[in-house]
Amino acid sequence: MVDIAAISGLTSSLKATSDIAKAMLGIRDELLIREKAVELNAQVMTAQSSALAAQAAQAELVERVRQLEQKVVELEDWEREKCRYQLAEIATGVFAYATKPGMEDGEPPHRICARCYQDGRKSILQGISRTKNWTKLDLLVCHVCDAEIVLASHTISISSAAVQASGRSRTLW
Ligand SMILES: [Zn+2]
Repeated sequence: MVDIAAISGLTSSLKATSDIAKAMLGIRDELLIREKAVELNAQVMTAQSSALAAQAAQAELVERVRQLEQKVVELEDWEREKCRYQLAEIATGVFAYATKPGMEDGEPPHRICARCYQDGRKSILQGISRTKNWTKLDLLVCHVCDAEIVLASHTISISSAAVQASGRSRTLW
């Protein structure tokens, strides 16, 4: 934020310094000159402090402008990128964004997370399988927002479990 108080403080300190210096020109009394010199020194210190505060405020503004410019570039990039995708029903009642035909841009077919898309970012969904309680799930997961989409579930039969167990040289039964 612009520190108006710092700039205003700097201006009034410089004016006061100038006023004191002008007043000192006509003084012949040594004691009075010393008093004015101390007063002048205090005003110079105040002006330095205000100048530093104004400089810090300017540096903060420059950084804020840099951040906003970067955000604009990111938004423009996302606006271009999002046009490559369209909403697709990848399973009954399950939606993700998929590349539009002809918009693959050299990439293999993939899907991106609908939640992340709505939040203005691209996150490619990754296919994994997970087994839990005798059920094997085929999932698409988003590693950004942790969304999980179940594409299929299969109950593991005892015979396939035995095959899996023997494959690991272990007997479950
Ligand atoms: Zn996501």
